[in-house]
Amino acid sequence: MPVPATMLAFDDTDSPDGMCTTYLTTLVLEELPDLDLLGWPRLVRLNPNVPWKTRGNAAVCLPLGHGEGRGTLCGRLERGEVRWHKRGAPVDPSELLERAAPVVARHAKFECHTTNPGVVAAIDRPSPTLYWRAVREVVSLEDVESELSAKGAHWRKFKGGRGVIGASAAMAWRPRDRTWEVIAYRSPDRFGTPRGIEPESVIQMDKETSRTFNNYDPENGHIAIAPGSPCPVLFGIRGDSPRELLKAKDMIRGERPDKWLLYMSNQGTEDHIARRRVRDLRPGDSAKVRGTVSSEPVTVPGGHVVLRLGDGAEIDAAFYEQSRGMRDAARGLLPGDEIVAYGSVRSSPRSLNVEKLQVVRLSSHVRKVSNPECPKCGKRMGSMGSGQGYRCKVCGARAPKSAAEFEPVARSVSVGWYEPPVSSRRHLHKPLRRMPRGNINKI
Ligand SMILES: [Zn+2]
Repeated sequence: MPVPATMLAFDDTDSPDGMCTTYLTTLVLEELPDLDLLGWPRLVRLNPNVPWKTRGNAAVCLPLGHGEGRGTLCGRLERGEVRWHKRGAPVDPSELLERAAPVVARHAKFECHTTNPGVVAAIDRPSPTLYWRAVREVVSLEDVESELSAKGAHWRKFKGGRGVIGASAAMAWRPRDRTWEVIAYRSPDRFGTPRGIEPESVIQMDKETSRTFNNYDPENGHIAIAPGSPCPVLFGIRGDSPRELLKAKDMIRGERPDKWLLYMSNQGTEDHIARRRVRDLRPGDSAKVRGTVSSEPVTVPGGHVVLRLGDGAEIDAAFYEQSRGMRDAARGLLPGDEIVAYGSVRSSPRSLNVEKLQVVRLSSHVRKVSNPECPKCGKRMGSMGSGQGYRCKVCGARAPKSAAEFEPVARSVSVGWYEPPVSSRRHLHKPLRRMPRGNINKI
């Protein structure tokens, strides 16, 4: 039974990389030093395909109140160590909003060009359905506001206030699956300057931790924990064990973090993916489709690979050049192969942009090696024309097409899972490193 808390959530849809929303979290917490966390801070990623999204599409939700007991360490800010408590009491949501909304308003344009922030405070949270819709579909502000009213929530809109949607959805999240991310922030005098992270320490951390993911991209030689944008984030490490993340953070050498916070998150959970039939796919959907390859793959200019995928209806499945090994695997597929393609649906050209691939079964393909030998006189028979059988030129005996000698075609792809390199993955992408082995047909 979760402790009753006052949930404070905000979404800042237009920050350049989504990370600024989390920096705002630290500023809000600094300005509420009398309040405690009554649960993990939550970093929630929403539908990556909404047309107006910024790169990250992140929202944050903080369970707040007055905590009891020692609590569990989850950050260090200027106000000191931050702990979250299992027991405590909520505070008045309307008063909380009055205190928090000005902080968001004051800092919203700081570093990131926020356009439509929304702040929501409530004890009675929106239903989980809102989360599932917001991570997979497009939700209207009207629908969200009517649910907030029904729940007695308090909210503040800035400009268009679209951020209220993401904030409410983050609040509505009840994890089925979850990961954590420890985010370390830079000191303000370093914002915009190159980050001083020793790459070797990241590679070493990646090797020495077992439950972190997306740290380092060996295919591109890229350190993935550090963002490329001039935002306040020094690095973020993702993983399945909050305890291990605390150690992982201290293994990174170089520039010293000014502060840090450990979030529970839906990153890496694949919550945005729903199983769909091809005929039901709509533009903007994220979906997994199980089907049969119905054309030979074609490599198009730019190095992308496209093939037809069918389950009764058909769609083009596109594998981007940036997906490297996965793209190469797709190039080795042949008609009749059975696959599961995870991806997002584009409208024009209508296609499924594949973000993860499971090759379930390879069809057997054979190639003709030579015409059959005549069963009567042993001579090599001649073809009677395309689509016809064979006839012996010496004795006139006939044989069907299938009498020719065949050999199996060697395949360059094998049954199994394929995913893009670390730097080409979306925040919600569930890395193979997080997936249990042996669930091959579990779709
Ligand atoms: Zn013959």
